[in-house]
Amino acid sequence: MRVEGIPASPGYAEGPLFDLDQPPASYKAKASAEEEQAALVSAIGKAVGRLAALVETADGDAAGILEFHIAMLEDDALSGPALAAIGSGQPADAAWRAALDNEIAGYEASDQDYFRARAADLRDIRDQVLRALSEDSEAATPPGAILYGDDIAPTRFLETDWSIGGGIALKRGSTASHVAMLARSRGVPMVVGLGDEAETPTGAALLDAERGGIIFSPSPAEIETFRRSASTFADRQGAARTFLTEPAVTKAGTSVRVQVNIAYPSDVDGIEIESCDGVGLMRTEFLFGKTLPDEETQYRAYRKVLEWAGDKPVTIRTVDAGGDKPVPGFTVEETNPFLGLRGIRLSLKRRDIFRVQIRALLRAAIHGNLKVMFPMIATPEEYSHAAALFAEEQAALAAQGVAHRLPPLGIMVEVPSVALAPEDFADVAFLSIGSNDLTQYVMAAARDNAAVAHLNAVRNPAVLRLIAAITAFGRERDIPVSLCGDAGGDPAAIPALLEAGLRDLSVAPAQLAMAKAAIADIPV
Ligand code: PEP
Ligand code: MG
Repeated sequence: MRVEGIPASPGYAEGPLFDLDQPPASYKAKASAEEEQAALVSAIGKAVGRLAALVETADGDAAGILEFHIAMLEDDALSGPALAAIGSGQPADAAWRAALDNEIAGYEASDQDYFRARAADLRDIRDQVLRALSEDSEAATPPGAILYGDDIAPTRFLETDWSIGGGIALKRGSTASHVAMLARSRGVPMVVGLGDEAETPTGAALLDAERGGIIFSPSPAEIETFRRSASTFADRQGAARTFLTEPAVTKAGTSVRVQVNIAYPSDVDGIEIESCDGVGLMRTEFLFGKTLPDEETQYRAYRKVLEWAGDKPVTIRTVDAGGDKPVPGFTVEETNPFLGLRGIRLSLKRRDIFRVQIRALLRAAIHGNLKVMFPMIATPEEYSHAAALFAEEQAALAAQGVAHRLPPLGIMVEVPSVALAPEDFADVAFLSIGSNDLTQYVMAAARDNAAVAHLNAVRNPAVLRLIAAITAFGRERDIPVSLCGDAGGDPAAIPALLEAGLRDLSVAPAQLAMAKAAIADIPV
């Protein structure tokens, strides 16, 4: 039986289903307080061991977070109260939970954003030890399996061995989630929005993350057709790889610049700079993921990417928190977050946090070819306020004698007001079309809602007309226009984007080869 969903990371996977939603195993109480204490100490040790193993394979930023978790677990101040509570008769799991919940409440009550954001780390640590305590009966993820369930946590993704295949099939989930981005950058097939089945399917399944669907209990005929599609996909990917090192040109010789989208500075470790024209979008909200990064942390992150790119441009976007990307201690709870305080709106409201990012960017700018852009701009005033903050921080750095440079400042075109009246933005240095948000706002169809995914189509004539208009405006006024939404890496959308006049795309690294191959296939 085939169930349709939305492709979040292209590819094919065939394997046994692994139920992500099975209830966690429960802890078995021990005979004495000493045994309970020993169980807790050993569970903490197990959690540390597991994190240390993850650090080995993690990227720079993920490794930093994991090391921070290890340091907290190894701190006696955290385990002391739990061990004492066990001594007075509590079982290990209840004692650990109560001790950590108490700590978490303390952090949450802090009036400092930094400490409030740390509560999320403590919750993660609490759950890792609880998992280790009840682990004897917990099923590990079998390699090569298709992980099936409501949603999946990033740590589960990072712990899974993807080397022999496997994939992710989610009943809900979102193509814009952290896990979806990790899956795309590591080439793990993933489908979201499959909805609920009357009964939990078991046994083998076929995951088609190219079109977006899953076949439960497949027939021999379905397996055969599936394997044919999987092998053509692998062939196409293999053939596309030959385009990777060449500049992108259409059949008629039209050059197209293809840059990459990144989220973590370590993403560039796996990309040959020769294979792309620079970084068209660095999303910085993921640096803000669990804790608010200080100026030095941000400076180092930006500098690393700039030095990697050499003289090729790196467009770093100021933090676009909010919407479907909440940041503890920064974003606010809203009933309609896509239409709320996200992107530049939030940065202009929380200038203390924005100024830290601005200083880090100004200082990093001396290490390469930096461009900075603002997300979710809806009015020219937002752009002028943000640009004024750059000027203020620049003056402050100059007064302190700190090395810095003011980069060109541009905006994302992702709110229809900008696409419809671009003439109000004639003083920006460049425009970058965010087709993910532009499409959802033009079509009134949320980008993370599987039920309206058919409406969330970049190739709808209304969306394409706006893209063509903004491209024409850029040409007239000599303002560079690029596109950094996911459509830029979608071979099915690329012909329409070039037809709309675009000659500058920015795509997920795993889509680079396929995007260049698709461009080479276009006649004009
Ligand atoms: C977009 O909206 O197309 C975009 C590139 O930004 P994000 O996906 O981060 O919202
Ligand atoms: Mg956007």
